[in-house]
Amino acid sequence: MDDINKFILQKNKKLAHYLEPEILTLTLGELDSNCYLVSCPDTQETIIIDPGDDGSFISEKILELKLKPLCMVFTHGHFDHVLGSLELRLNFDLPIFLHKNDNFLVKDAQKSAIYWLKKHEVAPVPSEVSFISKGQILEFGKCQLEVIETPGHTPGSISLVSTSTTTIIFTGDTLFKNSVGRTDFKYSKPLELEKSLQKLFSYPKETLCYPGHGESTTIEAESQI
Ligand SMILES: [Zn+2]
Ligand SMILES: [Zn+2]
Repeated sequence: MDDINKFILQKNKKLAHYLEPEILTLTLGELDSNCYLVSCPDTQETIIIDPGDDGSFISEKILELKLKPLCMVFTHGHFDHVLGSLELRLNFDLPIFLHKNDNFLVKDAQKSAIYWLKKHEVAPVPSEVSFISKGQILEFGKCQLEVIETPGHTPGSISLVSTSTTTIIFTGDTLFKNSVGRTDFKYSKPLELEKSLQKLFSYPKETLCYPGHGESTTIEAESQI
């Protein structure tokens, strides 16, 4: 994965003319997790956010739409957001980015899935991953996603922000339509989640939010709850 620097730019680099990405939502797995194929409309370069399950289905979509995948990003390490990653790695040789504070969850993802889904066979998650943190920008074609840290649901939860004509945030399991992330895991921190929500609510009210589960929403709708 020697091409990581192709994606990760210096902190605070802002290009003048980012385009709004195209977004395809694939709802996958037994927990109906949202996987997002986020693409540059000009170059078809694509970032795969949360390949939660069924890597072969995601791969088919990529081929069918003639997308050019560059990498996978996990909003956090829960198994329902990562289980399709091995197949995508095998098919497209893609690097994986996540926050280092959630690597313990990714390492446990296969075991957790076997336990929670009561399955016998679950694909492992590749162990070779790269860490990203706040302020880093993933560039794909003429689009970009900036990493912001939104811990609470898990210690390494991140959200990804696209700033163009519309601001778009991929909120993982931090913020949902009419709901917020669970904080009843032993490693969750309700106060941190509260701070992360305030961070999200500081974006313009018309900001579109694409969560880890369920329908998309806006900052305006969620900040009033
Ligand atoms: Zn989660
Ligand atoms: Zn989830």
